[in-house]
Formats: sequence, C-alpha cells, structure tokens
Amino acid sequence: MRKKKEDIKGNRYGKLVALYAVSESDENGGAEVWRCRCDCGSEINVLYPSLISGNKKSCGCLKEESQQNLLERLELVDGTCVEWLEGRKRRVDNKSGCKGVYKRKSGKYTVSIGFKKKIIYLGTYESRDEAIEARKKADSSSTIPWFR
Ligand SMILES: [Zn+2]
Repeated sequence: MRKKKEDIKGNRYGKLVALYAVSESDENGGAEVWRCRCDCGSEINVLYPSLISGNKKSCGCLKEESQQNLLERLELVDGTCVEWLEGRKRRVDNKSGCKGVYKRKSGKYTVSIGFKKKIIYLGTYESRDEAIEARKKADSSSTIPWFR
C-alpha cells in the first residue's frame, strides 16, 4: 500500500491555492509536486515541501506587489480609518464606508482606493479634508486615471 502524503487540495499558502497533485512522491527526488493557482491568475507547479514550509507563497508576483501589500497591511494594522464625514459615523448608505483614508503616525493622511481587487495608492495629504476630497473624486470618476 502506497503511503500517501497529506491531501492539501484547496489549501491556501500565501497567494497560492493547491489545485491537484501533478506527480507522485517518488518522482522529483522524492518530493510531490502540486499544481497551484496564484491569486494573480497564474498557475505553477510547486514542490510539496516548499508549499507547506511556506517558502513559496506566490508564482513570483509577490515582490512586484510589495507596495500594494504594504497598503493592505496598513488597512489591517493601522485600523484607524478615518470616517468620511465627521459626525456622520458609519453611514450605511455610503457603500464606500470609510475605507481608503488612513491617518498616519506622522499626522498625514494616506488615501487609497480598492479597484478590481487591487489597491491603488492615491497619495498622501496634509489634511483630512484634502484626503477625503481626493478619495471622493476617485470614487465619483467612472474611469480611474490612476489605474493602468
Ligand atoms: Zn502570482
């Protein structure tokens, strides 16, 4: 009876999701190879040990998105999202909510906008009003000039 490695189908490792085993363990020097799909849409073959050890977390696109990741982390860590309009907290009818405007430790405001699963950095502003204005402008434009 063949000893089977742990079935990792569907598991996520960073930006990679294991799809199916490409080869058995006895090929490729003993390592099983898994077909993985990256969040960017690419599919690559990854050695099982690299996946479970966390050495491989993307198809290679991860580095290119370092700025984007930084902004995503900002969203999680910073947490001090600035409300859109003072005194009108968490308006339900504002689908954009307060996302996209962040107060930095420096006192400045960083503005970003989520578009097609990407976060686009709009700039850093001295005042909250400027930041909110920039974000509103981006929201109201049907085409986003920053994107591309
Ligand atoms: Zn990728």
